[in-house]
Amino acid sequence: MSNHKSLVIAVIGGGFSGVMVAVHLLLNATRPLVIKLIDSQEVIGQGVAYGTDKKCHLLNVPASNMSAFADNSEHFLHWLHNQGFSEIDATTFVPRQIYGQYIQAVLNEALLNAPAWVKLERYRAEVISLNVGNNVNISTKSGEIIECDRAVLALGNFKSGNPPVNDSTFYESKRYVQWVWSKNWLEKLPVDESVLLIGSGLTGLDVVLSLHQQGHKGKIHIVSRRGLQPQVHKATSPYHSFLKAESPQTIRALVRDVRTEVKLAASRSIDWRPVIDALRSETQALWQNLSLKEKRRFLRHVRIYWDVHRHRVAPTVAQVLTELTQNRQIISYAARIQAYQEDADGVNVVIRKRGSGEETLRVGLVVNCTGPQSNYRRIEHPLVQQLLESGLIRPHEVNLGLDVAANGAVIDAAGNISEQLYTLGPPEIGQKWETIAVPELRKQAQELAEELLK
Ligand SMILES: Cc1cc2nc3c(=O)[nH]c(=O)nc-3n(C[C@H](O)[C@H](O)[C@H](O)COP(=O)(O)OP(=O)(O)OC[C@H]3O[C@@H](n4cnc5c(N)ncnc54)[C@H](O)[C@@H]3O)c2cc1C
Repeated sequence: MSNHKSLVIAVIGGGFSGVMVAVHLLLNATRPLVIKLIDSQEVIGQGVAYGTDKKCHLLNVPASNMSAFADNSEHFLHWLHNQGFSEIDATTFVPRQIYGQYIQAVLNEALLNAPAWVKLERYRAEVISLNVGNNVNISTKSGEIIECDRAVLALGNFKSGNPPVNDSTFYESKRYVQWVWSKNWLEKLPVDESVLLIGSGLTGLDVVLSLHQQGHKGKIHIVSRRGLQPQVHKATSPYHSFLKAESPQTIRALVRDVRTEVKLAASRSIDWRPVIDALRSETQALWQNLSLKEKRRFLRHVRIYWDVHRHRVAPTVAQVLTELTQNRQIISYAARIQAYQEDADGVNVVIRKRGSGEETLRVGLVVNCTGPQSNYRRIEHPLVQQLLESGLIRPHEVNLGLDVAANGAVIDAAGNISEQLYTLGPPEIGQKWETIAVPELRKQAQELAEELLK
């Protein structure tokens, strides 16, 4: 083995996706290999989702479906039980910080079991640019150059984009939090301060839970376009697959078919949730069979309803929301933000409510809870901007994520499939739609590792 030159694969991003690619490379390499795992965060395996230090932030998927390995569904549960969490069963929604520890344990175990000809080097660095020639040269913020043969862009979730308003100068204010996962803003918040959350999805709920956990007493105004909140999980039995990729390829027909199936299920006393879940294995193919026009139609008219039914929350999370809404600490609005008027003591936020007029809310802090930015043209990170400017990547035509080939290789501005740059997970959202959660990512990580080792 040692006579061969080592293949060098860099993985940029050490969240779930990057770590799991590294794990499969470690376990499956049959020739000398060096893996360079690069992440700006100190702790590997957490990424955005599992880096929270708050116990109230739970996984939104039950433990039974959060194994890191597609072919070993009990792996997470066994790990939990070995760690002494004997009270946890398949239906438990585990704190996300524990999941971060699990991913670190998975990596450590792979390091122990890897053959001698595979090495992993860990870099704590922020990658700001990348050049492709015979090799890939990766430049970090501190000026280091990391060389490799192939690189995986496991870049994951980026800072939220600012909602459009006429005068966006407020977005520079100290009274605005653009990225809820940035450090320390919550701890500094006075206990009676009124806050405005933009967005009522999973990110908004995480903020509500954090505020609740730290005993916040101020009003929590939540503004979202339709005033919808994620539905709650319920234990159910699986439903049969009923839509195939060759089913009607218009959004109107697909929505009609799903509604019909939900009604049929209801007539047999079956809940709508397993009907929606039965679409999971077909979603990528259904999405890929839609024309661009139909994909856009989905994003404009259906996505908002899809998101609240597909991305559900644990019952205990829904309970906190209901409680705070009933005691009027939370007030929700279906509205758009029109303007911000800031003065020395706070900010007036003018909103336009759906179907009625304007209202002005007085708050001390505005928090962007719209979730990660997926439009690569709007991502502010230097690496993404450099990759776009140099034509090494191109945004997907629906303006979500990147254009990516079936084997995970990125497609450049001229339409060429790269032989050196690959990606997986959230950057593939335009390509696959259902690609951001662990049940899909674990499979992609394994397949991409196999592709890289070919
Ligand atoms: C708040 C939140 C909660 C979620 N909860 C769940 C859940 O309960 N269950 C579930 O299945 N899915 C959940 N998800 C979906 C989530 O996207 C995936 O589960 C998974 O964590 C994605 O991992 P990732 O590695 O692709 O991305 P990320 O977790 O975003 O990790 C990307 C990593 O890349 C690093 N990085 C990026 N750019 C650079 C650079 N230029 N240089 C160096 N490092 C870089 C970042 O520091 C980060 O560590 C959640 C997502 C979010 C945002």
